[in-house]
Amino acid sequence: MEWIHPMPKIELHAHLNGSIRDSTLLELARVLGEKGVIVLSDVEDVIQKNDRSLAEVFKMFDLIHVITTDHQTVTRITREVVEDFALENVVYLELRTTPKRNDSIGMSKRSYMEAVIKGLRTINEVDVEFCTATNSRKLHNTCDGAGRKKIYIRLLLSIDRRETTESAMETVPRIGNVGVVGIDLSGNPLVGEWSTFLPALQFAKDNDLYITLHCGEVPNPKEIQAMLDFKPHRVGHACFFKDQDWEKLKSFRIPVEICLSSNIITKSISSIDIHHFADLYKAKHPLIICTDDFGVFSTSLSNEYSLAVRSFGLGKRETFALAKSAIEATFAEDEVKQQLGLIFDSASPEYV
Ligand code: 5GP
Repeated sequence: MEWIHPMPKIELHAHLNGSIRDSTLLELARVLGEKGVIVLSDVEDVIQKNDRSLAEVFKMFDLIHVITTDHQTVTRITREVVEDFALENVVYLELRTTPKRNDSIGMSKRSYMEAVIKGLRTINEVDVEFCTATNSRKLHNTCDGAGRKKIYIRLLLSIDRRETTESAMETVPRIGNVGVVGIDLSGNPLVGEWSTFLPALQFAKDNDLYITLHCGEVPNPKEIQAMLDFKPHRVGHACFFKDQDWEKLKSFRIPVEICLSSNIITKSISSIDIHHFADLYKAKHPLIICTDDFGVFSTSLSNEYSLAVRSFGLGKRETFALAKSAIEATFAEDEVKQQLGLIFDSASPEYV
């Protein structure tokens, strides 16, 4: 399946800190280990473990955050994550991250986001197009020349389910915030109540931001129904949906971000052959193949497509059509959607 890597791809569900390279995580952990801030072997154990429950994944995020939450590191990992996606021919990326406040190092949610944006500015391996939803200000877009990869980036800000209503409100940007097109709700699904986050999500929606929700990662029928009634623009995972949830999702045509490896590794879905990808695909419901956390789950978007091809018997042409169909589910401006259409059209002779 060597044709998957060069195929243009769109990534809509990628968490910044979950997409950190193992090599970077280890390098940073060694430095903190020498300073006695962490125990290096803890990090090594965590990286080597390739089978972890959802609860263990969240413990791992706490460890990653201890290692990565300073401005310089946030800038570095943003640059690396974008470069990694672009090098495997991801042409449009919606990167999500939880703005963090850490008074002890002078970090506010705003300065965290400035560090992310600085990361985008410092990318020079690939060309980056990054702008706001309302004005097309390019950070840099040096050339379309031969051999250079080009990637469009838009940002989603995540609200962590551990946050209060007030803190969630602080995450929602006021109009005109650079490059932010939407808000995500994520974090440990066993923590927090939907009603806590609703004011911030409603405020975001009222201010023309797009909304995507981690929905149905654990069996919580009441919350799933409430989330669907909110009519988010996309949902992620949808592992524990019942018939009435599928009915509602389908009647509202809410696209689903599908993260195969993540769902299997965390045992949210017991086996790939019963994954809801198959039903949704057959029903021609909008779905997008995504990585979730390519560092934590040791995957890549090409790998996720290969897994779908192998598990559900997709052909080359169908896979290409699936990848292209993600354009409609992006939170990008119409002009960018048109450009993405052209990129896919020019690649299409290879995939007929
Ligand atoms: P960050 O927002 O710090 O850049 O990325 C890591 C965070 O994303 C985690 O702490 C967690 O809140 C969220 N996250 C990453 N993967 C998952 C997932 O599979 N499910 C949920 N609910 N949240 C996730």
